[in-house]
Amino acid sequence: MDELGVFAEVESQARSYCRSFPVVFDQAQGSYLYDLKGLAYIDFLSCAGSVNYGHNPKPIKAAVIEYLQRDGIQAALDMHSRAKHEFIFNFRKIILEPRALPYKMQFTSPTGTSVVESAIKLARKVTGRRHIVAFTNGFHGMSNTSLGLTGNRDNRQPGVDPYVFRMPYDGYLKGLDSVEYFERLLNDNSSGMDIPAAVILETIQGEGGINVASSDWLRRLRKLTSDHDILLIIDDIQAGCGRTGTFFSFEPAGITPDMVCLSKSLSGYGLPFALLLHRPELDQWAPGEDNGTFRGNTLAFVAATKTLQEFWSDDRLVKHIQDNEALLNTWLDVVSERFAVHIKQVRGRGLFYGIEFHDALLAAAVVRGCFARRLIIERCGSEDQVLKLMPALTIGTDTLQAGLDSIFEAMQQVLGQVSFGELDSDLPTSLFINEASHVA
Ligand SMILES: *Cc1c(COP(=O)(O)O)cnc(C)c1O
Repeated sequence: MDELGVFAEVESQARSYCRSFPVVFDQAQGSYLYDLKGLAYIDFLSCAGSVNYGHNPKPIKAAVIEYLQRDGIQAALDMHSRAKHEFIFNFRKIILEPRALPYKMQFTSPTGTSVVESAIKLARKVTGRRHIVAFTNGFHGMSNTSLGLTGNRDNRQPGVDPYVFRMPYDGYLKGLDSVEYFERLLNDNSSGMDIPAAVILETIQGEGGINVASSDWLRRLRKLTSDHDILLIIDDIQAGCGRTGTFFSFEPAGITPDMVCLSKSLSGYGLPFALLLHRPELDQWAPGEDNGTFRGNTLAFVAATKTLQEFWSDDRLVKHIQDNEALLNTWLDVVSERFAVHIKQVRGRGLFYGIEFHDALLAAAVVRGCFARRLIIERCGSEDQVLKLMPALTIGTDTLQAGLDSIFEAMQQVLGQVSFGELDSDLPTSLFINEASHVA
């Protein structure tokens, strides 16, 4: 544990995920992480959805190395580069055109929170209105405007962007249809609601607990916002890039948002990268009006282009996700029945699932039990009561099964116990890893 000392001594208390996994990681390949001792861990966290194609996917790595090798331009501000040209060309050809999406592309600063900031700034500029509708349990980032949109009380600070009108997400309150409620507020001149510039939401809330909005609800929200000339922004930073089984999470609902925020897995290689898609009519920025130094990380353009060509130019990945989802669903049925007393609900789509426990402490104990079995998995939801299953989209069936076996074992041990006092100790360290425990 000596190698952990320097983090505790020097690194800010703001550090987060590392607290759940007290080891030092060194290498990673596919669905495996390797610590300093070379021990393998199966990854069911996928860096919160920023390595959807696994770690260091080989074809992408080759493209990145080749680009570095030939001194491809790295820092370029937003000047024209071949790397950017190829990304724009391929994104339009492989993603936008087949889906009949007419979007223009703005490269914002390369994090999720930055693309959300740009989307809201543009919505306010274009509409001349100030208020934004965001939803209960939504997560949109940690800088001022996006923090104002984020629901979690522990993250928010007094004084964050106050022009946010909070609406109940689909299914938030039994018996309340929030689109109907929203419609009433808009149509009632004395409802007290300012007409908003935009509505922003995730179609499946990631940090908020894997809450799934129905297609019907999304379609009615799309119609209502169009009717009232309010912009609809889908934050697809976590649910997009294939996580829910289609490139964009809103595809099954058949809606066309006015803007879409992408980041996390967009580069396909864990490189910082973000993209705002918006309807062409919204392109009302003056040159340089929403500028930044790292707008378009050139290496990320290269990786992202290769990712599109490799994973999205045919339906092999989509089929693979469907096969894995079928296996996952079979397992979830067994688990829901076996641990019915402790499990409140299972929700999700694609390879984006949550198991909600009645007791958040049990969810925490299961996460620890999984780590003891060298499975990296995290929790989400307002009380961290939801176990979040997010394996790589490319995960092999054997590895997926091995990870699920570890969760099952951990649940059996944790949920089979009566007393909480015993949870911390005695967790076995036996492994359920059926692949080589070192990088090939
Ligand atoms: C992660 C995330 C963000 C913020 O992205 P950062 O890169 O962490 O700033 C915004 N929205 C959603 C839905 C996210 O999952």
